[in-house]
Amino acid sequence: MVEEQLAPRGIEDQRVLDAMRRVPRHLFVEASAAAYAYEDHPMPIGHGQTISQPYIVALMLQAARIRPEDTVLDVGTGSGYAAAVIAELAGRVVSIERHPELAVAAAGTLAALGYDVEVVTGDGTLGWPPQAPYDAIVAAATGPAVPEAWVDQLRLGGRIVMPVGRPGRAQHLAAFTAETDGTLRETKLGAVAFVPLIGDQGWPAS
Ligand code: SAM
Repeated sequence: MVEEQLAPRGIEDQRVLDAMRRVPRHLFVEASAAAYAYEDHPMPIGHGQTISQPYIVALMLQAARIRPEDTVLDVGTGSGYAAAVIAELAGRVVSIERHPELAVAAAGTLAALGYDVEVVTGDGTLGWPPQAPYDAIVAAATGPAVPEAWVDQLRLGGRIVMPVGRPGRAQHLAAFTAETDGTLRETKLGAVAFVPLIGDQGWPAS
């Protein structure tokens, strides 16, 4: 996966590549799908949700520039896979999921593998104030814009990486950095297709 899908497409951050080598992705999908876990596409994980394509996970985490001492909020726990990769990179990880069943299953997988991730259930568009401020906020669901709560909970110089756009329509992956003047500087990372970020500062549930 790393040699064929990530490095040739420009993932150069050695810490990200090493983290993705270490995390056993096949343990984050149904046992019947384990043989396909390292393939170059997203996969269903139940509740109409997906585990993201490996390359997209790597692209997002490279853009998040996570350092060993960082506190990171992962929005959209899903299977827990991205949270595990983040745990390989960061000092502290909080992962928030709106579906309680997915959160419970992911927390079990992460704990069984020894990953120290605090998995919480709730509306991640409101962030998670108890562990704020965050050095990075990474979201695996597409929103209309950056939720104001994330800006409030981000450290100066912090990064937000998220897809922006309508579900099923044009979306792009964006990396934002909190500048000293209070603004966010955006870098666009290309077109993507994500499930919706549903919540108070996201899209309404349909
Ligand atoms: N990172 C996950 C993984 O590694 O398996 C994949 C995440 S999946 C593409 C997107 C997830 O975001 C879904 O599980 C969905 O339920 C969740 N989600 C959508 N809106 C949310 C919100 N407001 N708060 C928390 N989770 C949300």
